[in-house]
Amino acid sequence: MRDRLLDEAAAELRVPEPAAGAGVIESWDLSVGVDGPGTRFVVFTCGCPLRCLYCHNPETWRMRDGRRVTVDQVMTEVDRYRRFISVAGGGVTVSGGEPLLQPRFTGELLRRCHGGGLHTALDTSGFLGDRASDALLADTDLVLLDIKSWDPQGYRRLTGARLEPTLRFARRLADLGRPVWVRFVLVPGHTDAEENVDGLARFVATLGNVERVDVLPFHRMAAGKYARLGLTFPLAGVKPPDRALLARVHAQFAAHGVHSV
Ligand code: SF4
Repeated sequence: MRDRLLDEAAAELRVPEPAAGAGVIESWDLSVGVDGPGTRFVVFTCGCPLRCLYCHNPETWRMRDGRRVTVDQVMTEVDRYRRFISVAGGGVTVSGGEPLLQPRFTGELLRRCHGGGLHTALDTSGFLGDRASDALLADTDLVLLDIKSWDPQGYRRLTGARLEPTLRFARRLADLGRPVWVRFVLVPGHTDAEENVDGLARFVATLGNVERVDVLPFHRMAAGKYARLGLTFPLAGVKPPDRALLARVHAQFAAHGVHSV
């Protein structure tokens, strides 16, 4: 099963992006507090070259399962909420799936929102960071960068992919001075080893552009989605982290001068 999913993930890299002005998305939604500051209009793009064991959006994995939309259509929807999200100190977040699998669509969306005075965020694993142009990043007010593990072997076990492209992207964002929130999912038995957290905290402390680290406790709420899609949730037997573990991890970030929430 895992091998099949990883083959499928690799195949996503070869799926051509739709013509200019169009993209493939799963949905859009409003969220508060989890996808950037304030109330966000979140666009979930389809297609992802990773297969994270804890992924809670498996319905976004394959581009062919999404629906084709134009940037104009998304912007019409954004405009309906523009006043509301602006007053609420929010903005627009492009998430996924992996938005950088469709860099032209994502870039155009960010450009239109940013140019229209909306705060913009890009939620990415960073694996395809090389596909993000400097112009796309200039239109991105905040990058939500998922660094899923510090240990390269652990990262590969968890995601099926290499860690290095994400670290390279993190350094580039630091060089460009783009604001970043790092996101780290704490999964007992997978990402919670002291040396793993310590390595990540030490790395983040060197960057200088990371405003905070979101420590996201693993949960099993996506198990039902997997069942509906005929998939097995691989971490069904893993318990969420307890308070003591969360406190230890926050203390480790603090010890390196890194603000974590
Ligand atoms: S990168 Fe995100 S969408 Fe892709 S598999 Fe991982 S958690 Fe799911």
